[in-house]
Amino acid sequence: MPIATVNPATGETLRTFEPLTATAIERCVAAADAAFAVHRATSFAERAGLLHRAADLLEEDTADIARTMTTEMGKPVKAARAEAAKCVKAMRWYAEHAESLLADEHPAQDDVTDSGAARAVVRYRPLGPVLAVMPWNFPLWQVVRFAAPALMAGNVALLKHASNVPQTALYLEDLFRRAGFAEGCFQTLLVGSDAVESVLRDGRVAAATLTGSEPAGRAVASTAGDEIKKTVLELGGSDPYVVLPSADVARAAETAVTARVQNNGQSCIAAKRFIVHADVYDAFRDRFVAGMRELTVGDPMDEATDVGPLSSRAGRDDLEELVEDALAKGATALCGGQRPKEQERGWFYSPTVLADITPGMRIHREETFGPVATLYRVADLDEALALANDTPFGLSSNVWTRDDAEAERCVRDLQAGGIFFNGMTASHPGLPFGGVKRSGYGRELAGHGIREFCNATTVWYG
Ligand code: NDP
Repeated sequence: MPIATVNPATGETLRTFEPLTATAIERCVAAADAAFAVHRATSFAERAGLLHRAADLLEEDTADIARTMTTEMGKPVKAARAEAAKCVKAMRWYAEHAESLLADEHPAQDDVTDSGAARAVVRYRPLGPVLAVMPWNFPLWQVVRFAAPALMAGNVALLKHASNVPQTALYLEDLFRRAGFAEGCFQTLLVGSDAVESVLRDGRVAAATLTGSEPAGRAVASTAGDEIKKTVLELGGSDPYVVLPSADVARAAETAVTARVQNNGQSCIAAKRFIVHADVYDAFRDRFVAGMRELTVGDPMDEATDVGPLSSRAGRDDLEELVEDALAKGATALCGGQRPKEQERGWFYSPTVLADITPGMRIHREETFGPVATLYRVADLDEALALANDTPFGLSSNVWTRDDAEAERCVRDLQAGGIFFNGMTASHPGLPFGGVKRSGYGRELAGHGIREFCNATTVWYG
């Protein structure tokens, strides 16, 4: 994949970049190694000051970086500004909480009186340079979600961003440099995915985190496994959105539209499979389809746009193939099901709701990375849970119910890293984020996220 900014709303190539040479990559890894030796010895207060400064700068830059993101990957510009704001919040949160999250742990006294370990502590120490392989869909947030805790823990970062967001990737390096982080603490490697393996095998690189597709995750985890290096993987999702009879159906349907089309439908935690109890199916379907039809599809720079283009021609083609396979096998398009006629250029796809889905259709098991929803009718909670879990993925899940017993049953039985009742999935810096099954492993955010790239060291004072 060439490293280039290609506007997905027009298909026009705006800028291309040469990948770094092997010598330049070596310089970056050496700089990361040298920076780690210094950064790991700084205090939490010093790191917090730098991260607060980065947050201040990002706040000032919001309008510009939002336009850059929209130009590179097509998200509506208002959503791009919201993404920048979310990053500011996460930076400040980690600046304020990292020290307490990583405070020494003292074993409970009744565990240690017999062993004589009364003065022992667990100290969270940084691991070293961490390679972050990141995707284009939330080009600031995915990086900040990793970088803020990593830098606060005393680690340093090497970013291999997706090849279609190079200007956002370079902005991030510049942001951390302007904030005052020492040379080498946060570096962007403008390289293709073919360069990832050798960087990860380098003895100076301690660990890797990847957000993206299953094949990319498998490749990085295999290399890391071979090198016995820690990884965190945040891969795809096909989150269920279950609506049960006690739900507020109007609100469930209204929220369903946003839950499906946020970020032009290209979010791992978007609700993708809508599983609705027969008692409320018709009412939900009518409102949901009406909401999807009302969306404004168009130029993502326009403040009135709800849904912009998909990020790449390949992404639009993949989605189109999934829909066509389903339609050929008997699915019904309640709205959409094709490219919008109004957009002659760019990689747009109409908001779509498909019903009459059967297990033989690819869309039943594969992730739809675009504004396409599948709608299922179920007879009861048992069927809803069985269908919700009938997926290779397990990232998050949504359930609409006002019945406490039903809710507890869902908490017990849903196979997912998150369960959100009467609302859509969202991430908060103070709550862990990640999945089970083929959605990956490890957690980002909260204390769980910051400790992933730490060495939990037992320190015994004799
Ligand atoms: P990829 O997984 O291909 O890209 C994500 C990152 O991984 C990019 O930086 C990419 O680099 C890199 N990468 C790709 N292949 C390898 C490899 N073999 N070794 C090391 N690094 C690699 O995602 P796509 O953009 O191709 O999207 C495809 C699908 O992935 C989507 O349809 C969606 O299902 C899923 N996805 C999930 C995301 C999530 O948030 N969980 C985000 C994005 C995609 P490069 O750009 O240079 O190829």
